[in-house]
Amino acid sequence: MVRARAAKRAKRMGSNGNGAVAADALLKESEAIHDSRRALAEKLLEEGRALAGPLIEQVKDPEKEDPDKNLFQKPVDLLEACLGLDHMTDEATEELNKIMEVFEPEEVPRPEPNHNHALDVVVVGAGASGVGVGLMLTRVFNLDPERVLLVERGERVGESFHRWPKEMRFISPSFNNQGWTNSFDLNSIAYGTSPAFTLQTEHPNGQEYAHYLNELATQGELNIRFQTQVNAIEPLRKGGFKVKTSAAKVGEDGEWMGEEAEGEVLSARYVVWAAGEFQYPRAKEQDPFFPGAELCRHNSSVRSWKELPGDDFVVIGGYESGMDALYNLTTCGKRTTVVSSTAFWKVATDDPSTELAPYTMERVRDGFRRAPTPPRLLAPLRVTSVERQGKGYAVKAKWGAPVEHEGGEHRTAYHGGDAKIEEVGEEGTEVELVTPQAPLLCTGFEGSAALGVAKDLFEWGDEDAGGCLAGAPLLNDFDESTKTQGLFLVGPAVRHDDHIFCFVYKFRQRFAVVADEIARGLGFDTEETVEECRSLNMYLDDFTCCKGACGETC
Ligand SMILES: Cc1cc2nc3c(=O)[nH]c(=O)nc-3n(C[C@H](O)[C@H](O)[C@H](O)COP(=O)(O)OP(=O)(O)OC[C@H]3O[C@@H](n4cnc5c(N)ncnc54)[C@H](O)[C@@H]3O)c2cc1C
Repeated sequence: MVRARAAKRAKRMGSNGNGAVAADALLKESEAIHDSRRALAEKLLEEGRALAGPLIEQVKDPEKEDPDKNLFQKPVDLLEACLGLDHMTDEATEELNKIMEVFEPEEVPRPEPNHNHALDVVVVGAGASGVGVGLMLTRVFNLDPERVLLVERGERVGESFHRWPKEMRFISPSFNNQGWTNSFDLNSIAYGTSPAFTLQTEHPNGQEYAHYLNELATQGELNIRFQTQVNAIEPLRKGGFKVKTSAAKVGEDGEWMGEEAEGEVLSARYVVWAAGEFQYPRAKEQDPFFPGAELCRHNSSVRSWKELPGDDFVVIGGYESGMDALYNLTTCGKRTTVVSSTAFWKVATDDPSTELAPYTMERVRDGFRRAPTPPRLLAPLRVTSVERQGKGYAVKAKWGAPVEHEGGEHRTAYHGGDAKIEEVGEEGTEVELVTPQAPLLCTGFEGSAALGVAKDLFEWGDEDAGGCLAGAPLLNDFDESTKTQGLFLVGPAVRHDDHIFCFVYKFRQRFAVVADEIARGLGFDTEETVEECRSLNMYLDDFTCCKGACGETC
């Protein structure tokens, strides 16, 4: 084989009849190279082994102090170089494994289970919250991964993100600032990880973010049962829960099919509700809503703005989802009219999650600049009804009182007067917008806590009371239901007093609070772990630092 290759090479080099001689010369040359690579590999292996051996012995010797870990770097480099030469690979791998073994973290003993349930925790959902709290429970608070089960109705991690419209992106930027600042990537769900680092993108789309979550779940060896829907959670008198599940079925349009015949009933000491909001839109029959809302299409059912049939749309709602629709429809060349009860593009608050993100405004301005037909922004205009009209739809709406939005005046100077981008009508007058396509509802999400099977296991804040807790699930200091002991909530629906934990950089800071309460309940000593989480900005129980702002937004 080598001889044949050498002969060919000799021929290519223009050998003139004395091919055999040239081939022989090359063969000798390549054999010499082969021999010298092998000799070099042997030497690297020998030196690596000689350096690593005594260090490994020293670690194993209980009488001696452990050597400085940096001393292992040289033998590791030598052995890896040996692998790179493709010789002595088995031996080099064996030596490297010996080194890795001494670095393997010691198994920290766990207390014996203090209850009779098969599982310590069932986490409902494997999205950003479910994966985040799952890693916190098992990798940080050391619960047995076999006894913490994530139940996910989708067939993959991050099902909601896979369902985002193709063009939709994170609005909070990702940047791997860990190590140089006190905080870390805003979109990271676990300290030491960064979507910016994994994905090399600042504003991940849904597919990309789901990939990041999947990497974490896989590397963290989370125990996840896919295509399984939680249909009922039954608290037991003596503590713990029966969690009723069934096989999850998805229809052709991606909607979840009705409950199946009963599947397995899981028995767990604790349940963490992490079923999110995206798959539980605010639409149709929910009050207070306008007649004809059922004729509209919610933005969460759109898979791609570009591929959405039609070229003339009315978008109802002007916050993040509405502006995302505006930008994407407009830049695809589709005429777009946004009807919004609040001119969110003028709102300025101290809480960055309750005003439109800079990324959003940047794109909206871009949409205005680029669109052949500029979009229309109508506010404050509240939709009163939607009706069928011929083959299309009539959206009826009423103008509200003019509102002065204070605090953002300084901005207009920079971007040439966004304040004037909207159209305003006379208070109390009505308008009718006719559109050939079903109007798009970008009115946000009711959420799984309110629409899912755990609803009755929570007490609910008074709708009329105002503030962040109006209509919100009520939680104690550990994000446990005030009504059902042992049931916890994680994710964007968590609220306390004036604070709303609707973005990743907020709600991730409550994972450790939940994990701590559960771990202590299971008999773990958590003091050191809590301190560690606190020092990493992953345990937030003092909200005095956080700027709160409640409203229709977020
Ligand atoms: C337009 C838009 C832009 C956004 N941009 C940002 C941003 O820039 N930064 C940011 O921090 N946040 C952003 N968010 C919010 C962020 O996406 C959510 O807060 C986040 O997805 C919440 O994660 P989660 O795990 O709680 O919910 P999800 O990701 O929805 O996960 C819930 C999981 O539970 C599963 N599930 C639901 N019900 C059941 C059941 N009964 N049984 C079993 N499984 C079930 C679902 O399949 C799903 O996988 C944005 C949201 C939208 C809509």
